Amino acid sequence: MKRDCDLALHPQAQSLASRYAGRTVLAIGAHPDDLEIGIGGTLAKLARDGARVVMVIASCPKDFDVRMAEARRGAEILGCEMRLLLDGGPQRLEDVKTCDLVGLLDAVIREHEPAAVLTHSDRDFHNDHLLIYNACLPTQRLRYFDFFSYHPTNCRPVPVQFHPRAYVDVSDTIDAKMHAISAHASQFGGRGLDTEMYREFAHMQGRMVGVPYAEGLDVNRMLLS
Ligand SMILES: [Zn+2]
Repeated sequence: MKRDCDLALHPQAQSLASRYAGRTVLAIGAHPDDLEIGIGGTLAKLARDGARVVMVIASCPKDFDVRMAEARRGAEILGCEMRLLLDGGPQRLEDVKTCDLVGLLDAVIREHEPAAVLTHSDRDFHNDHLLIYNACLPTQRLRYFDFFSYHPTNCRPVPVQFHPRAYVDVSDTIDAKMHAISAHASQFGGRGLDTEMYREFAHMQGRMVGVPYAEGLDVNRMLLS
């Protein structure tokens, strides 16, 4: 595949495998499809390279059976496990007290002892996404994990300020990402919405760092040794 600049060799780039292989990575999203849109390529790459990746979907507020089936399919395509935080049926995040949400996420952190957590950012515009980001923040007190935020996620383009501080080269998993997004047919094909903008966006982010496709992350906490 044609590369866009001479940065392509990246002698200083550390592979995800060297940091997370054999360890658990938690990806936390407010709704089914957020993780595929935000970091589908990263999750597929982590799983392929030997990390145990658990996709935590916080809530499924409506169309429960359809959307959970789509979420299971999306996770399967990416090679990840999936679990629902507010399980047992459709629930809205804003109906849950903040302390209860933090308690549920604390339990997930204690259970999985992750090496890294990826979730929404404080730059997001969807209140549910902000609720999850804010509930993830205090879980940092429980143990050390690398902590990243992904680009605000949406089904239609919305202007937001998000400035990645790290990029994951997803050139060899972009097709898995697109496939996993397409698994959420009720949100895209079923509503006449196109998913190609996610490939275009990954391409644009890739150009920032000289690879065909990338996903940008904000770094909330990262230990370098
Ligand atoms: Zn969402």
